[in-house]
Amino acid sequence: QNICKPEGYVMDTCSDFDGIEALNRRVSGPLKKLIRTKFFRTLRVELYKPCQFWTSEGSCFQRDCIVQPLDEDRVPSEWRAQKIDQTNFGPFLGSFPRQRQEYTEKDFAIVNDETYGEGVWLDLVDNPERFTGYAGAGANAIWMSIYQDNCFGVPPYLQDTAGGWGSQLVNVDGKSMPFVQPPRKRRELTPFLQDLAEEDRAVTLPADVPYEYRVFYRMVSGLHASISAHICADYFNATSNRWEPNLSCFISRIGAFPDRLQNIYFNFVLLSSAIQKMKPYLEAYDYSTGSAKDDLAVKRLMPKILNSVKNAGLLFDDSELFIGAAGRELKHEFKENFRNISRIMDCTGCEKCRLWGKTQTLGIGTAMKALFSYPERAFRGSFTTLDFKRNEIVALITTYFQFSCSLEGIEMFRSMYQDFVTDW
Ligand code: FAD
Repeated sequence: QNICKPEGYVMDTCSDFDGIEALNRRVSGPLKKLIRTKFFRTLRVELYKPCQFWTSEGSCFQRDCIVQPLDEDRVPSEWRAQKIDQTNFGPFLGSFPRQRQEYTEKDFAIVNDETYGEGVWLDLVDNPERFTGYAGAGANAIWMSIYQDNCFGVPPYLQDTAGGWGSQLVNVDGKSMPFVQPPRKRRELTPFLQDLAEEDRAVTLPADVPYEYRVFYRMVSGLHASISAHICADYFNATSNRWEPNLSCFISRIGAFPDRLQNIYFNFVLLSSAIQKMKPYLEAYDYSTGSAKDDLAVKRLMPKILNSVKNAGLLFDDSELFIGAAGRELKHEFKENFRNISRIMDCTGCEKCRLWGKTQTLGIGTAMKALFSYPERAFRGSFTTLDFKRNEIVALITTYFQFSCSLEGIEMFRSMYQDFVTDW
């Protein structure tokens, strides 16, 4: 049984799975080299922003949860100089440090501008996303708060039919799933989480869930699945003391849930589509860091990626999204909810997980900003209407790479599974 080989079209997109895997094979090589260049591996992240939602519990202080900060001497001086020059406020920063806006109406995520705030410079390559051991109530509370409070209650109308939270089982597309109301208090999460652990099932979205809600849910679930794919591909085997892929981790978290698997592809489509739209801007962007070798590498690699993405044709048709007055309202809610998810990342009790959670919500937020906040023509000509910060560009490309790795991981686990079944 070929359980991790989806066929046909990636749901809610114009792309087929084979085409997406083929695109990934073309971009993954150049991406691997690109993310090792100074411009893309260096990022300033507000890693220690207080959690606004609950008192953080379950922090992980194990070695693999901790982030290695970057020696600031290795950061190009212009980027550090910008930080000191706080009189030069952009429209983004406002006029007083404490009152600066964290986002504009065009933003889908909290941007945490690198030139401001209490960020830490980090080398992303030195802090890979992988198994850290962070788990339990703290991690679960974050995922549950994201799904239950910020995903429009998808599947939304089931809230009306089930009424009350607990362990009622609601039938969705022939499958049962535990239904719960969004937990309002921290202590209410505990029984809910126990419920869910027992009823750990796939959710197949009913066809009549509004398109915007489905897109939102797929993005979140795809991000979650991609994080799980990284955990399972780079897993610490405590018996052999080695980092290695863990097939049962992959099957139990992703492979057994076709929708989660597909949602990784969905995110890759969305990111590819944004990069396709941004091509002229990304071609013209100034990536210089002062390192001749790295700057030359970016000049050579970026066009390869952009051309492959361009040649992939129409990937995601956004013409059906956010239509009319209701659509405008929905887009507003969509942004509010995703910004909220990016704020929830501050509550992650493991530094490295927080780093990747924040970076990837920013990356997906940047893709959505490109797709839904600007018309095509804004990415041609002089780009004067565009407002993208350096960290948004880094996050976008880095997130694209993380999903590219997840797709590679799926192919690797698919063949491991085939071998396992054959041997067995
Ligand atoms: P979880 O992954 O915690 O999932 C909770 C529940 O959500 C599951 O029981 C299931 O019902 C549902 N679910 C699971 N996946 C999906 C999906 N794709 N779509 C829809 N529903 C789903 N751990 C690391 O080792 N390394 C990391 O880098 C890392 N980064 C993290 C970043 C963030 C922001 C968070 C919140 C957690 C991170 N973690 C990381 C922890 C990790 O995601 C898991 O929470 C942890 O491994 C425990 O896994 P679990 O099996 O309990 O299920």
